[in-house]
Amino acid sequence: MHVVLLGPPGVGKGTQGRRVAEDRGWALISTGEMLRESARRGTPFGLEAQRKMNDGLLVPDDVMIALVRERTGQEDAARGFLLDGFPRTVPQADALDRLLAERGSRVDLVLSLTASEEELVRRLTERRECPVCKRAYNLESAPPRDGRTCDSHPGVELTQREDDQAETVKQRFRVYREQTAPLIDYYRRSGHLREVHGVGTVDEVYRDLQSALSGAAGPA
Ligand code: AMP
Repeated sequence: MHVVLLGPPGVGKGTQGRRVAEDRGWALISTGEMLRESARRGTPFGLEAQRKMNDGLLVPDDVMIALVRERTGQEDAARGFLLDGFPRTVPQADALDRLLAERGSRVDLVLSLTASEEELVRRLTERRECPVCKRAYNLESAPPRDGRTCDSHPGVELTQREDDQAETVKQRFRVYREQTAPLIDYYRRSGHLREVHGVGTVDEVYRDLQSALSGAAGPA
C-alpha cells in the first residue's frame, strides 16, 4: 500500500503519519525529516537544504524527486510506505506517479488532513520536539508530562524548529497555498483522495484516519 499524507504546515502529518506507519508496518518516509537529518550531518546538500528550510522555501523538485526515488526503492519500503511531506508540488506528484508506474505500482490513497490557517499558526508556534527521538509535542494541546522535557528521554529539553518561528511560518503558508494546495484537486481528480478533518485530539484525528484507510483497499 502506498499512501500520501497531504496537508498544510502543522496539521499533524508528522504525528499522525508516524502512528499510521508504525501500526501498519509501513516505512515512514518524511522528506522534511530526511532533510533535517542531512543538515545535522552537515553535508553540503544538508546545509543547502537547511537554508531553504529556514527561509520557508522548498528544496528544488529534481533534488527531492531523486531523494524519494532512492528512498522508496529501499527494502523496508517494499512492504508499503507512507509519504509525509512529499509530493509538495505538481511536478513532484507527476514524478511520483511515473516512478511508481515504472515499478508496476501506484499511489493507492491520499489522505488530506485539513484545518484552518489560523488554528495551524497557533499550533506551529507552540510546537516542540525531542531532539533525540523526534517525538512531537505541543505546549498547549499535547505537552510533555513535566512541561519541558521528553517523556521518553528524561532530562532532554524539547526544542523548537527554526522554521516554526513566526516569519518563516507565514512564508511556509504562502508556499503551501501557491504550490502544494493545488495537489488536493490533482488527487481528487484521480479518485484516490480522502479528506480528514485535522482538528481534535490526536486520538480523534487518528480514528478518522483509520476509517479513511479501512475504506481503501490496495496491493502491498
Ligand atoms: P516538513 O517537515 O514536511 O514541514 O518540511 C520542512 C521543510 O523541508 C519544508 O518547509 C521545505 O523547505 C523542505 N521540504 C520537505 N519536503 C519537501 C518537498 N517534498 N519538496 C521541497 N521541499 C521540501
